[in-house]
Amino acid sequence: MTVRSSSSSSSPADGGAALETIAVQALDYWDKATGALVPPIQPGTTFRRDADGGTARFGRVYARDENPGYAPAEAVLAELEGGAAAMLFASGMAAAVTPFLTLRPGDHVVAQTVMYWSLRKWLLSFGAQWGISVDFAETGDMEALRAVVRPGHTRLVWVETPANPLWTIVDIAAAAAIAHEAGARLVVDSTVATPVLTRPLMLGADLVMHSATKYLNGHGDVVAGVLVTAEADAFWQELRRLRVEHGGILGSFEAWLLLRGLRTLFLRVRQSCASAMVVAKHLASHAQVATVLYPGLTDHVGHAVAARQMRDGFGGMLSVRMRGGSAHAAATAARTRVFKCATSLGGIESLIEHRARIEGPNTPVPDDLLRLSVGLEATPDLLADLDQAMAPAASLS
Ligand code: PLP
Repeated sequence: MTVRSSSSSSSPADGGAALETIAVQALDYWDKATGALVPPIQPGTTFRRDADGGTARFGRVYARDENPGYAPAEAVLAELEGGAAAMLFASGMAAAVTPFLTLRPGDHVVAQTVMYWSLRKWLLSFGAQWGISVDFAETGDMEALRAVVRPGHTRLVWVETPANPLWTIVDIAAAAAIAHEAGARLVVDSTVATPVLTRPLMLGADLVMHSATKYLNGHGDVVAGVLVTAEADAFWQELRRLRVEHGGILGSFEAWLLLRGLRTLFLRVRQSCASAMVVAKHLASHAQVATVLYPGLTDHVGHAVAARQMRDGFGGMLSVRMRGGSAHAAATAARTRVFKCATSLGGIESLIEHRARIEGPNTPVPDDLLRLSVGLEATPDLLADLDQAMAPAASLS
C-alpha cells in the first residue's frame, strides 16, 4: 500500500495520511524481500541485463542514471512538498545550479538581493560567462520584483524564503503570479522553511530546492540537495538529463541517511521553531543587541506574510545585530560554548556565525550581524550561553 498525503499536515481530512505519518513511516516503507521496515543500502553501480541485452527485468543500467536507493527518499520528499516528483543531488549547490544550466545565452533571470551567498556569487560569474543577464530584486517587496522581470525574456525567478541571513520573507503566491505573467518559472529555495512550515508548490511555485544538508537530514552528517517539481514535464526531464550527464549524484549511503533523518523532520523543526522564538524574544530586550531579525517577531518586516504563509512556526534561524559593531559580534561568537561557532544551519546542535567575515568584502550583509541556527539543546542552556557570551563590547578582548 502506498500512503498518500492529506492536504494538511495534521488532519487527514481527505482520508490520506498526515504529512507527519508519511515522514515517520517513509510512506509506509517496508522491504518486500525481508519484511524489514528500513530499506537496505544498495551500493551497486551497475545492473544485470536481460538475456537479450535489454533492461525489461530490472529497468536499470547504471547507478549514475538511476540509483534504486534514491526511490524511498525521493518519494517521501515529493509527497511532503505535494509535488509530482523529486530528485536527489550531491549537494544543495548541485541541485540549485541545475535549473540555471537549462538557460541559453540572452536569457534573463531574477534572483534575490540578499540570499544564500555562494549561490549569488556563482550566479554572477555564470551569467557573465554565458551571456545570461541576472538582476537582483528585493523580493520581500513585490513591486520591486515586478519592476525587474522582463516579459518574454525572464526564464527563471529564484527566491529564498526565509532568506539568509536577514530572514526576508517572500510572498510565494504573489511571486509566482508575477513570474508566470512574464512567462518565467518560479523556483523557491525552501531550505530554511522545510515542508513542515511552507509548501511552495501548493502556493504556485514550479520547483522547490533544498539544501538537504540542513533540516531535511538534520544531523550534520550528510551533504545533499533536492529538487521537487510541480509537474513531471519536459523541463523536469531536462533537469533529470542534466543530473545524469553532469553526474552530481548522491552516494547510496548518504541517500539512506537522508531518509533516516527525514523520519524525525517534523519533531526537529517544530522544536527548533519553539526555541528560536524564545531566543528571539529574549534577545529583543538584551542590552547588547540593537536588532533581532526573526520573522516570528511582529516588528520583522516580513511578519505579516510569514504569519499567513508559514504554519507551525517561523523557523529555527534568526540573526542579531550587535550594538558594539563588527568586533563585538565576532568576539561574542567566539565566546559561546553551547552554540558552536561554525557554518551551516538546520542541524541538531545550535550554531552561531559572524556572516560578514565568512562572506568577504562585497557582502551586502551588515558586519555587526550574528546568524544563529537554533538546535535541539535545552532552551535555558541556549539563553544562558548567549547571556555569558554577550558581555558589553568594552569588556570583550
Ligand atoms: N541554500 C541555502 C539556503 C543554504 O543555506 C545552502 C548552504 O548553506 C545552500 C543552498 C547550499 O547547500 P549545500 O551546502 O548543501 O551545497
